[in-house]
Amino acid sequence: SRLKESLNKTRDNFTRRVGILLNASSRLDDDFFDELEEILVTADVGANTSMELVERIRREVKNRRITEPTAVGELLCEEVTKILGEEVPRLAWSPAPPTVYLVVGVNGAGKTTTIGKLAYRFKQEGKRVILAAADTFRAAAGEQLDVWAGRAGAELIRHQAGADPGAVVYDALQAARNRRADVVLVDTAGRLQTKVNLMDELKKIRRVIERELPGAPHEVLLVLDATTGQNALSQARLFSEAVGVTGIVLTKLDGTAKGGVVLAIAAEMGIPVKLVGLGEGLDDLKEFQPREFAAALFS
Ligand code: GDP
Repeated sequence: SRLKESLNKTRDNFTRRVGILLNASSRLDDDFFDELEEILVTADVGANTSMELVERIRREVKNRRITEPTAVGELLCEEVTKILGEEVPRLAWSPAPPTVYLVVGVNGAGKTTTIGKLAYRFKQEGKRVILAAADTFRAAAGEQLDVWAGRAGAELIRHQAGADPGAVVYDALQAARNRRADVVLVDTAGRLQTKVNLMDELKKIRRVIERELPGAPHEVLLVLDATTGQNALSQARLFSEAVGVTGIVLTKLDGTAKGGVVLAIAAEMGIPVKLVGLGEGLDDLKEFQPREFAAALFS
């Protein structure tokens, strides 16, 4: 499948090594479990999550009296699915339009691209989409969003570089009301070298949205670059404390061997991964489906 293909590098780094371990081992002893944990850690599953996974597998091996190392593959797939959550997480929609998604994340993570892809998808569904260029810090950000708006057929609200991001959001919500838009996607700044300022700016944007439209934002989507591995987790904590993240978009899964970070995020953050980015094109954004993901990883 497409997902399986996108996970090629992760499968190479992780699945292949697990397979070698299972086939080369003759006993399920401490060495076996140590090695399994080691493989998980190197695949960016994270120290805590790797330890927990191995503990669970040890327990199941004991409970089910499993002695064959090759039988552990299925157990691993089961436990991974449990960690990822059985349900397919959905994006929230407001019963009274517009629905507002605030999109946050550090520069380069793929925010603008993700917004372009979402806008395209919603347009395909026949929705009226407004993009708000609230990263006024970088002139290039507004231009890039403009390009994506054109590709997707969405409308763009943009001010001059250096303008107040809150004012952009205010205008976008007014426009959404006047034009009866279905959804507003808010792009934000992501300069991490000035963390405090950035978090203050995001909080202020959030307050403007809450004041102008009670109940909004309906999602705060944090865009994380899978290629950054464990760094993605520290970013998740930072943004989540500042603006209250409701869903994660994990981008660039196609180009990385660090896909195991999905597990660390699911296990340690308690925030669902809702979407995954599998490429740079308009169509390369997929709902995250835990079962499908685990199957793509292990089959
Ligand atoms: P922003 O600074 O967070 O808005 O990031 P951008 O949207 O500008 O994306 C940064 C780079 O990552 C661009 O070159 C995108 O084409 C690329 N990118 C974004 N999402 C994906 C993805 O899912 N897969 C791949 N391979 N590249 C992506």
